[in-house]
Amino acid sequence: MRNTATPNISGLSLTSGTQSRCCWYCGRGEETLPTKLQKCGRCGLAEYCNRECQRGDWKLHKAKCKMLTEIIVDTDVKNRLRSGALKRRLLTLSEGTVILSIRDPDITTIGDMNLAVERAYEAPFFKCKSLLRVYLKGCTKLTSVGNFAFASCSSLTSMVLPDSLTQIGEAAFGGCTSLTSVVLPDSLTELGESAFQDCTSLTSVVLPDSFTELGEYAFQDCTSLTSMVLPDSLTQLGDGAFLRCSSLTSVVLLDSLTLLGKGAFGDCTSLTSAVLPDSLTQLGEGAFTFCSSLTSVVLPDSLTQLGEQAFAKCTSLTSMLLPDSLTQVGRLAFGGCSSLMSVILPDSTTLGDGAFYECDALVQKAALAGFDSVELYLRYRYKSITLRKLVLRLLRKYKKAVNYAYGTEAEKHATALALFPADNTGSLEVGLFLQKMNISGGDGVIGLVGYILKFV
Ligand SMILES: [Zn+2]
Ligand SMILES: [Zn+2]
Repeated sequence: MRNTATPNISGLSLTSGTQSRCCWYCGRGEETLPTKLQKCGRCGLAEYCNRECQRGDWKLHKAKCKMLTEIIVDTDVKNRLRSGALKRRLLTLSEGTVILSIRDPDITTIGDMNLAVERAYEAPFFKCKSLLRVYLKGCTKLTSVGNFAFASCSSLTSMVLPDSLTQIGEAAFGGCTSLTSVVLPDSLTELGESAFQDCTSLTSVVLPDSFTELGEYAFQDCTSLTSMVLPDSLTQLGDGAFLRCSSLTSVVLLDSLTLLGKGAFGDCTSLTSAVLPDSLTQLGEGAFTFCSSLTSVVLPDSLTQLGEQAFAKCTSLTSMLLPDSLTQVGRLAFGGCSSLMSVILPDSTTLGDGAFYECDALVQKAALAGFDSVELYLRYRYKSITLRKLVLRLLRKYKKAVNYAYGTEAEKHATALALFPADNTGSLEVGLFLQKMNISGGDGVIGLVGYILKFV
């Protein structure tokens, strides 16, 4: 057996920090290692933290070892990028054989932040399949990597960006299907639309602190992504940000986030749980649609709107507690949630068309309780739950009053009862209770006294 060591693959990720060169096998950065990285004796280019890692990587590295070329560009960088000279050279080399280091302390941008999609092929490294690893650490003033800059570099496995970088443009790394590791510098504040779309080898994402906006479809179709860490500075998650990330199992979103875009986690078929922050007010259209493994979601008390089809076809979802703050549930919001059994629907929430369409389990439950509409059934249930809560709260107050009163048992009860005015001018709770009693066919004051006496 060639390799008995357990590979440490924790480095296969999109991380935040200041890591520079790292082991080609386990991805650990040189600064985290006790010794310097060792180079492969044959090519002198591949680097490993120890023999185990070298042996582990050999299967992959063997085919390329002798073909590897290191290209270092540190003069005339601007022109060589603009004229396409560097790209032309890269296009002549074999797939996955180039280690590119750009070391120009003066350039501020690679590519163009305004390049239109129909001119994507003009981007400096568009479809340069020869790229294996890219180091931009030496570009100490670089602030942006433009639109499509490294798009479809399908052999690119690792990318090191400088600490000065603030912006990554549209689809800058889109379709980099071999990309396992990117270090996002802490200086980064913006990630453009589709920035890492279709990076099917990325396993984890750590966005740097201070990060505020994640562009639309930023990680769409990153099908190996199993975990992500979002900073608490993030206020918006763009439409489709994690659409079809089919390996993602759980999501914890932090406070500060107010909006979850359309389809943000749509089709995340492995997602089992989601915790949403208290700052969230809107859940976009289809935010969790087709998350067929989702069993539990905690909706925050700040939520006011649930978009159309927000949880449609979440076929494993069994219960849902809608917060009192929620005023609107969009069309088909829970359509096709065939396992949904229990829903708490506040009085103040209005339902869009077909909000519970094809919720078979719920329809059945409603029918058993004698209702031919899920909505009527849920409204009735909510009323009785609220009523029960109110009675219990009143009861606690009443018992307290009895305990504080003096005299015989009968005198104590009389004192306590006097504290609960029979008209609606008393405490708000009593008024509310009377209202509920009237709506539900109870008989007001008599009912209230009756209720309390039943419990004492
Ligand atoms: Zn290693
Ligand atoms: Zn080698």
